[in-house]
Amino acid sequence: MDLERLRGKCGVCLQELPDALLSRCTQCGTSYHPECWEFNRRKCAVYGCWKSPFPKRPLGPPQRHADIFNPFVMAGMFVAVVALFAWNLFRWFQD
Ligand SMILES: [Zn+2]
Ligand SMILES: [Zn+2]
Repeated sequence: MDLERLRGKCGVCLQELPDALLSRCTQCGTSYHPECWEFNRRKCAVYGCWKSPFPKRPLGPPQRHADIFNPFVMAGMFVAVVALFAWNLFRWFQD
């Protein structure tokens, strides 16, 4: 974390900050304009400071081949097998 770079500057808009009227991250001490703090939904803009409970993973490259072990494919196959089994069971009790 390059906090020196942000010293005296707003962590959101990177403009120089006046000495007064600051919102300050309690974790890393980075200062913000109050409106920038609000704009950033009251979260620290410093990378790695604010820990999201649901971190966004970077999107991987698009898959060009069908991945048989894809959880969606596995779930679909599971549903198909269960449906086939239930249908056979239904036919069994019909006779
Ligand atoms: Zn700002
Ligand atoms: Zn912070």
